[in-house]
Amino acid sequence: MQATIGVLGGGQLGRMLTLEAKRMGHRVVTLEPFPDSPCGQVADEQIVAAYGDLRAIGELGARSDVVTFEFENIPLAAIRALEQAGRIVRPGAEVLRLTQDRRLEKGFIRDLNIATAPFAAIASADDLIAALDGIGLPGVIKTALGGYDGKGQSILRTAAEAQAALDEAGGQPLIYERFVAFEREVSVICARNVSGEMIAFPVSENVHDHGVLETTIVPARISSVLAARVGALARTIGERLGMVGVYCVEFFVAGDDVYVNEIAPRVHNSGHYSLDAMHVSQYEAHVRAICDLPLAEPQQFAPVVMMNILGTGDGDELTGIHELLRDPAVKLHLYGKTHAALRRKMGHFTVLAPTLEEALVRARCGREKLGWSRREALAVAGRA
Ligand code: AMP
Repeated sequence: MQATIGVLGGGQLGRMLTLEAKRMGHRVVTLEPFPDSPCGQVADEQIVAAYGDLRAIGELGARSDVVTFEFENIPLAAIRALEQAGRIVRPGAEVLRLTQDRRLEKGFIRDLNIATAPFAAIASADDLIAALDGIGLPGVIKTALGGYDGKGQSILRTAAEAQAALDEAGGQPLIYERFVAFEREVSVICARNVSGEMIAFPVSENVHDHGVLETTIVPARISSVLAARVGALARTIGERLGMVGVYCVEFFVAGDDVYVNEIAPRVHNSGHYSLDAMHVSQYEAHVRAICDLPLAEPQQFAPVVMMNILGTGDGDELTGIHELLRDPAVKLHLYGKTHAALRRKMGHFTVLAPTLEEALVRARCGREKLGWSRREALAVAGRA
């Protein structure tokens, strides 16, 4: 049955969600502060308004059968206002409350007896001194609210750097967490529908650079025992959150230990690959979950590598796309953004191949053809 889905946020995640929702016959209205957004370009309607504009948020609710969001830095008050007006929001305010504040999120995970890096909430210089003492160095300072793609983060290697990190944060609430010397970062994308049915996608292996995801490799190069473990942890987290929709749990893997880094209560960059490599993508799974349709057990067509295409900051032209497309295994996704700011996510490409090794080689070749990567290709490819 056709539903009108309201999407808070107009970025690429909303765009791909919209394209899948439209394929399934639904209508989409998005709300986002900037006109002609990646999502707005493909949605039926875009409301141009700030996320804190409760009148506009109310309008989105009135036009939608179900409201969802594609990023979690939406004011909680906006989601609460929708719920108070009797609108259906999936996932709801309680999930957003717990996941948009790193202090609550990490506390929630710890209360489930699931390991995170040791952490402490920081509100003052004294808190930080105590945390350095109790948790040790090196560590990472993160803003408790509003951070994404490594923004609002700095690494502390010595106690002498503490004051500068506090000054930089300018009084915002923070957390300090132990730096984890991980071998790999992996994530698990799950979907849970209104009836409580759940699915988990294969484990993704993610390579970040300066906090920004650059490469996703699926399946992750970890043992099946470890894959089953992180899959089970991700499911537990979603069940205990009472999640409805797609969510992603990111982990650090260090030897036999795994630590949850964070929960994203939404479709996720590390699931882009699923549009090309799975018979039901994370975006379709989200639509099914929030519309309480049956979820399909994920089936992967072939090993896959996804690489983000980032802005160079060196003009708005994305160079190398023509060359990239010479490989018939490359599938290109661009998000309709006109300004290619430095390290802005402009698009991504995937490579499916009979083996993961072949997909990796071809994806690395593709990346070397892109303008953004020339400076960084060697450094990142060494780690991917
Ligand atoms: P986050 O915004 O928390 O997902 O952090 C972005 C990236 O920074 C992660 O994907 C890691 O690559 C890195 N990072 C964050 N926290 C830690 C940590 N405690 N130890 C090591 N690396 C980290």
